[in-house]
Amino acid sequence: MENLLKHLVEITGHRDHNLLDISVISALNELLGASQARVLEISRVREELFVRPRVWLKDGKAASTDEASSDGETGGEPLSNYPALVSCIEQRSNNIEETDANGAYVLWIPVWINDKVTSCLQITSSVPFTPHTLDMMDGILSVYRNFQNLLDYSERDSLTGLLNRKTFDEKFSKMAATSAPADNAGQDGDERRSGEEVCEQWLAVVDIDHFKRVNDTFGHLYGDEVLILVANLLRASFRAHDRIFRFGGEEFVILLRSTTLDDARKIFERFRTSVEEYNFPQVGQVTVSLGFVSISAETPVVILGHADQALYYAKTHGRNQVCYYNELVSTGQLHSEVSNDIVEFF
Ligand code: GH3
Ligand code: MG
Ligand code: MG
Repeated sequence: MENLLKHLVEITGHRDHNLLDISVISALNELLGASQARVLEISRVREELFVRPRVWLKDGKAASTDEASSDGETGGEPLSNYPALVSCIEQRSNNIEETDANGAYVLWIPVWINDKVTSCLQITSSVPFTPHTLDMMDGILSVYRNFQNLLDYSERDSLTGLLNRKTFDEKFSKMAATSAPADNAGQDGDERRSGEEVCEQWLAVVDIDHFKRVNDTFGHLYGDEVLILVANLLRASFRAHDRIFRFGGEEFVILLRSTTLDDARKIFERFRTSVEEYNFPQVGQVTVSLGFVSISAETPVVILGHADQALYYAKTHGRNQVCYYNELVSTGQLHSEVSNDIVEFF
């Protein structure tokens, strides 16, 4: 009992999904003697579900993929490789048990958040799960699920359901700290030219054009509706491992994972066009401007400042366009020296 309480305190003491997962895996391992326990992330890539281990046990200790450095190219293995889990999700059961090829007992437990399976626990034991073990596990998992929901809620913006500014600050400083490209020496323009095919991480700032007019002409409720619809277009335009944030009012930030400059530009352009072509009820056409930059070894404040400068350039040169900071600098349309002074004010 004392041990159980110790683990519950540990589980509920975290404000981070990764640490929460690790503490649950450790609790299941210690309290139930599971020989293996993993948290699998379930993500959707172009209508197909993929499974990727997020946290697992290694030599009795929990290990995890560092989300900040994991490459977002692959979503992992197709979910269809795990037939027991597929049928569990289809039947919406809380868990399903099976025996694997080595005769070990495997328990699959999908974690539902807002009617969607976002992750799943896989617990393996060399002995069958007893009713007592299952009861204890159920208790721990209910706490885990509730806490996941709470954490998820605190990370999101209530109007659009996108990740909020606070989450951006945390994730971005983590991501910037782990992105140290090989060519630190030359940050702008020319140096990067040779590496155009190199996959990098990208940051984009998006701002709705003339949004004040939408509010003034149609009222705040229609304004809010536009924000929700733009958020939906954002969700539809990016991959599961990219991250989308509502940064403030009618401003959004995207962290785009491991992609080349050409692809990043195409992806951002595609999103811009999808907004331009969308027929917003009552309001009609809405457009967005976007500034983007690669996530270099610079500090988060400087990177964000550069994306903001590119956005400002888009705003002052006709709006409804995508601008790339490094290109503006290398063509002389923006001056990088000025940028650092401006950045200090943000
Ligand atoms: P620009 O093209 O230069 O970006 O022009 P703009 O009108 O979009 O820019 P401005 O920053 O002047 O206006 C932003 C407006 O967004 C002002 C504010 O009332 C509105 N806004 C901010 N948050 C919300 C919100 O949550 N709901 C609604 N309906 N409006 C919001
Ligand atoms: Mg605006
Ligand atoms: Mg704005």
